[in-house]
Amino acid sequence: MQVLLRTDAADDRVHRILVETLYTQPASLALGAIAGALGCLPAVLYSGEPMILCLAIAQTLIGIARAIMACMPAARQGRSTLVMEMMFEFGAFSYALCWGLVAALAIEYDVPAAARTLTVVYATAYGAAVAARNAGRPYIAIGQLGLLVVPELLVSAFKPDLADRLFAVCSTLLLLAMISVTRSTFTALRDSIASAETSARLADKMQHLARTDVVTGLLNRAGLNHQLVERVAAIQPDQKLALFWIDLDRFKEVNDTLGHQVGDRLLCEIGSRLKRFAPNAASVARFGGDEFIIACEAASRREVESMAMQLLEAITQPIRIDDDRLEIGSSIGVAILPDDGSDIEAVMQGADLALYHAKVNGRKQVSFFAPSMTRDLVRRKEIEAELRLALQRDELSIFFQPIIDLATGRIRAFEALVRWFHPEKGELRPDEFIPVAEETGAIITLGNWITAQAARVAATWPEDVTIAVNLSPIQIRAPGAALGILNALREARLSPSRLELEITETVLLDNSPNTDAFIAELAEAGVRFALDDFGTGYSSLGYLSKYPFSKIKVDRSFVSGVNAGKKSDAIIRAVSGMGSTLGMEIVAEGIETIDQVKAVRAAGCTLGQGYYFSRAVPDYLAAMLLAQESEAQVGRRLAG
Ligand code: C2E
Ligand code: CA
Ligand code: CA
Repeated sequence: MQVLLRTDAADDRVHRILVETLYTQPASLALGAIAGALGCLPAVLYSGEPMILCLAIAQTLIGIARAIMACMPAARQGRSTLVMEMMFEFGAFSYALCWGLVAALAIEYDVPAAARTLTVVYATAYGAAVAARNAGRPYIAIGQLGLLVVPELLVSAFKPDLADRLFAVCSTLLLLAMISVTRSTFTALRDSIASAETSARLADKMQHLARTDVVTGLLNRAGLNHQLVERVAAIQPDQKLALFWIDLDRFKEVNDTLGHQVGDRLLCEIGSRLKRFAPNAASVARFGGDEFIIACEAASRREVESMAMQLLEAITQPIRIDDDRLEIGSSIGVAILPDDGSDIEAVMQGADLALYHAKVNGRKQVSFFAPSMTRDLVRRKEIEAELRLALQRDELSIFFQPIIDLATGRIRAFEALVRWFHPEKGELRPDEFIPVAEETGAIITLGNWITAQAARVAATWPEDVTIAVNLSPIQIRAPGAALGILNALREARLSPSRLELEITETVLLDNSPNTDAFIAELAEAGVRFALDDFGTGYSSLGYLSKYPFSKIKVDRSFVSGVNAGKKSDAIIRAVSGMGSTLGMEIVAEGIETIDQVKAVRAAGCTLGQGYYFSRAVPDYLAAMLLAQESEAQVGRRLAG
């Protein structure tokens, strides 16, 4: 009997749908009401019984009220399932009872056969019809049927006429048959609704999974795309939509050195921080790898700026994972709709470009999209594409800039500086194409070529002149880097002690065992190292004693830059003081005037390099400079 109970196993949603089926097809209720009224009319007219009249009037009024209720969905809105069900129940039961009694009384009062047949047959037929129509709530259907049929059945059972008694028997059989029909209809209906519900819920769950990032629980790319479309559609005219594209700096190293598990936990932590620091309703997504995107509405650009700073700050806070304390920086690119683009694609592209700028400009910063970035990118893309061909087309060459002994004026070394003579763009600065080469990995091939070329040229110089080659961090981290350099030396027949590798502090910041091994292996072979651009980065003096540097190159901003002056003079003095204690030479870069020569020499620099002495020149001119090196020239060089 369970299916007949009000609290059956079907859950609330299925229950609601089943109750809704009661109210569908208001037309059938209206037609039923009219037919019901007409069906009772002969009994009223032929019997003249006031009781039948009252019941018929009540039945008609209830029928009209029910039809009106079914026609007005608004009247049902917001009502609980239980209330809706009880309202229907009340109407259905009272309607059926009135009609059932009219039919029973028509039998009881022996109204003429035709009128009686119409009332009784129609009441029974109505009962059978609702048993099917209301099978969604079987106890209502069966209740209605019972109220319609049982009174006439009872009355006819006690009539003397055999036909009446047979009618009672047939009605009982009909009642039982219809109960069974109602129950099986209900079971089929409920099961099909429940299975439709289950598959709808499953589809919801699948959709949720398809839009969620497994590692962080944030939105994934698909989820973000979906939400972005909704956000853009809902944005108000006075609102902006800010898009923050976040990229973690050096996440790959964490992954490589501490393992993927730590990497995943780091991503999770960053994800939850972003969720905490982003505005409440923001869409926060992991866009694959170590990239995150946040989208949210903002009232003004200023508001977007402060959000970006807050996010940057949140990510930079140290993270503790087990015993490791990790500090991870990030770069953030920001673009705003409608300021930077009218649709979501344009704004995504803008944020991506801005992010790229933030990374190129030294990471750990926020960069807002600007139209010039598009032009820069086009140029960069061109450079990227053409750099691969430049080597084959012989467009690259190495120039040599002398490094002068500030005591004697003699050339002690040349720094190899790469030059690209592009057939259409003219001469390209290394500052423009080296970063591109680093990004694409082309620096490894390019770097090997530079070292080999430089070593070959240096082999033609006098024994006491060395060659300095710049190395980028990517080159050092490449497998077999040290071997490549030793091979180049062997092929050029240049003694390792005549090669000096210029590296910047960023190489050492990684604290990578690979870097240490690279330096140790080459130092062992006799290659020397110079710390380049000193004073521009962290300028940690700790590195000076840890690594076997033979030179420190003081950045040219201290010598000829806008900041050169008393303060930088003091810095050069301090560095050269320490350098001489540690047996290192101090090179002043970017010397452009004789006054600067005097200043840096007075500050303790032993070597100098700069336009004052010579620009970087092709190999044949470098050879000429060496050949012409006579006492007189040397004297003139230093006297100015
Ligand atoms: P860097 O290693 O600091 O090289 C010195 C730069 O200062 C060179 O610029 C040089 O031309 C310039 N310079 C020299 N004297 C003066 C001066 O008196 N005044 C001024 N204003 N500048 C002076 P360049 O050749 O454009 O190279 C720029 C940077 O590109 C280099 O900075 C280096 O970091 C990188 N680079 C150049 N060649 C190579 C290379 O072969 N491999 C790698 N990995 N990087 C290279
Ligand atoms: Ca250098
Ligand atoms: Ca330098």
